[in-house]
Amino acid sequence: MIRKTSVPELIYAWHESKQTGVGRPHMGASLIGGECDRYIWFNFRWALPPKFEGRILRLFKRGFVSEVELNTELRGIGLRVEDIDPATGKQFRFELMNGHFAGSCDGMVHGLAESPAKVHILEQKTANDRQYKALDKDGVRTAKWQHYVQMQIYMKMFHCKRALYLCVNKNDERIYDERIEYDPAVADLFINRAKNLITAAIPPQTLADGATCKYCDYRCICHGVQVPAANCRTCVHSTPQIELGQVPWLCEKFKMAISLRGQQTGGQCPGHMLMPYMMPSWLRVKDISSQGGLQYHLPDGSSLINTSEKFDGMLCLTSAKLHLLTPAMVPTVRDATEVFGSPPDTVPSSFPDIKCGVPDILPDTMPNTLPDTMPDAPDSVLVKTPATVKIDEHGTPQVVDPDNDLPF
Ligand code: SF4
Ligand code: SF4
Repeated sequence: MIRKTSVPELIYAWHESKQTGVGRPHMGASLIGGECDRYIWFNFRWALPPKFEGRILRLFKRGFVSEVELNTELRGIGLRVEDIDPATGKQFRFELMNGHFAGSCDGMVHGLAESPAKVHILEQKTANDRQYKALDKDGVRTAKWQHYVQMQIYMKMFHCKRALYLCVNKNDERIYDERIEYDPAVADLFINRAKNLITAAIPPQTLADGATCKYCDYRCICHGVQVPAANCRTCVHSTPQIELGQVPWLCEKFKMAISLRGQQTGGQCPGHMLMPYMMPSWLRVKDISSQGGLQYHLPDGSSLINTSEKFDGMLCLTSAKLHLLTPAMVPTVRDATEVFGSPPDTVPSSFPDIKCGVPDILPDTMPNTLPDTMPDAPDSVLVKTPATVKIDEHGTPQVVDPDNDLPF
């Protein structure tokens, strides 16, 4: 008999407990060569908080450990590896478009025998056996286009004409290597793609081929099942600004800069209104309600308003609550509203663990029960006028917080 323990599950859970759930602040060079515009846009707009299984988090860590080891080995064979930018004392990093597009490279390599005079951008990866074999057969440009684009952008930004790509096979520790030549046209094309996606006010088209979608983190949002998370980046009032000197994120409603920390807590903001183009197919936009807030048709013919305010006889839900709503919960939530006269604090503390792979999206199969434990009820906070916002002489709300942060 094999006697198992709880050790692996506890380790996975430990890794999961350390996740911050906070999205990356910028659109990364490592993502910009990806297949799907819409994926990159959802990622930039924090459509869902990042959440990985403990096993996957261990894999990420393994990649990092592998990089450190490889650097030691490169130095061991006589190469000079710079993994810290002497100008900043940190990793080599570039920023474009007011910081919205950025990336950090693994370092620079000097003294490669095949090209001793040229500095090479260093890019290190790990791969499973299948990916490794594809690399070995076809090279980076064909087998790992996303990595190829990433290196093209680094070469442009760090003024190098060559890159050294090293990829460790996680099965047997073989190392794939390839020297990559700079192609400015590719770098420019994808920097332009980043600009288009950062400034896009609505989500780009879905991929025609659903094969990639099956494993996509955003498939529930993209294919019309789940309501996005509530933060400033999913709010209709936020705008990323790409010119240097502008505030990177502007709140058009309160006419203020929104700091990174503020963006993360935007779900508690009284002005949050979810971007209608991100909403699932079971919530069809009806109107701007006369009371303010966006009004939606519900599948049963009734309607709700996405607002932090309360109006008698209307089902009103904040964006944070709407994010947790499924069609099956609607009758329960509405009944409770009719009884208590306000939106109940009986929304679940997390979205049900549904399978919404493509093409088997079945919203009707989602659970219609609500868990016993409820999230903190933010209603009393939500209807307050933020104390740190003052109306100026022109009637425009202004933030008076010294660090220009959100008013909550
Ligand atoms: S589900 Fe498919 S189309 Fe949608 S974001 Fe993901 S990869 Fe793109
Ligand atoms: S501060 Fe409020 S209104 Fe402004 S973008 Fe953020 S969530 Fe929206």
